[in-house]
Amino acid sequence: MEKIKIELSTNLKPKPQDESKLAFGKIFTDHMFLMDYSDKKGWFDPRIVPYAPISINPAASGLHYGQLIFEGLKAYRSKTGEIVMFRPEKNMKRLNASNERLCMPTVDVDFMVGALKELIRIEKDWVPAAQGTSLYIRPFIIATEPFLGVKPSGDYMFIVILSPVGSYYPNGIQPVGIYVENEYVRAIRGGVGHAKCAGNYAASMKSQIKAAEKGFAQVLWLDGVERKYIEEVGAMNIFFAFEDEIVTPELSGSILPGITRASILDLLKSWGMPVSERRISIDEIIEAYDGGKLKEVFGTGTAAVISPVGELTHGDKKMVINNGEIGKLSKKLYDEITGIQKLEREDKFGWITRV
Ligand SMILES: *Cc1c(COP(=O)(O)O)cnc(C)c1O
Repeated sequence: MEKIKIELSTNLKPKPQDESKLAFGKIFTDHMFLMDYSDKKGWFDPRIVPYAPISINPAASGLHYGQLIFEGLKAYRSKTGEIVMFRPEKNMKRLNASNERLCMPTVDVDFMVGALKELIRIEKDWVPAAQGTSLYIRPFIIATEPFLGVKPSGDYMFIVILSPVGSYYPNGIQPVGIYVENEYVRAIRGGVGHAKCAGNYAASMKSQIKAAEKGFAQVLWLDGVERKYIEEVGAMNIFFAFEDEIVTPELSGSILPGITRASILDLLKSWGMPVSERRISIDEIIEAYDGGKLKEVFGTGTAAVISPVGELTHGDKKMVINNGEIGKLSKKLYDEITGIQKLEREDKFGWITRV
């Protein structure tokens, strides 16, 4: 791969002064990473340039047929001022898995992790320091060949933008209320549910609005075939802690393989806890709840790390989990992962990449 060309901005934006007011994904840094792809040349012209609107042909196939995939990860600033990323190679591998599914060209994982480092080094002053804040990294690839036939595009553009983001929990961790979606489905086996492709999120918005109207924060997705087995919560993976077993749905092809999910599985195993990846039905959850055996429920993802579920509603059945409070296991996992990300806890698994 060629060396990354760098064109620095001569018109730097003011950085946010009050880190407690940072939201999610609303402001962007001074630079972005770009590279192009053509069937003839492969990936070429990697460059870091001033952040600006891009020009795209209105016939670009990605705008019409949705060859558009993305990733989401974060850079964190430790107390000592060091900047790190959490398992970025996993994100780049997953990006390639999404690429494969959508017939898009894969990228070199090591090259891309290096490119992320280079971009973040240039933007290091944009990495916030306050508790819970971070620099969100959004890599994405869009098909750009101007052709209206339905076939894999011959041209693509890979872009990485950065956004300083606030704490997911500015007022402390608050368990959320969720409800079981029984009308719409997020994904089906054989489809694209395991890929981080744009269309999945467009397809989920209708439910998200319905959930909000009913006063819930998220929806719990069931499998698209039998509408019985649990898949995910919103755009997070989900875990159930029973008295004697911790369960997360097995990766079935329609579930997004979360990096937070994988990290939690590793941690729980290393703590000697009984954890399984298996099919789990909503009926099993209700039965465990009625028997007093359902102790904790939590979502997992890069944005929140752990999002405890305080209430789970299925039709007329309302289940209050752990008194609507964050449970011990949720808290322990949250503290461990955020501690590793802030270089405050030992990185036993080698998850940290220093920028
Ligand atoms: C990104 C995502 C997740 C979480 O993945 P992480 O790698 O843990 O951030 C889970 N479900 C969906 C649908 C997602 O898009």
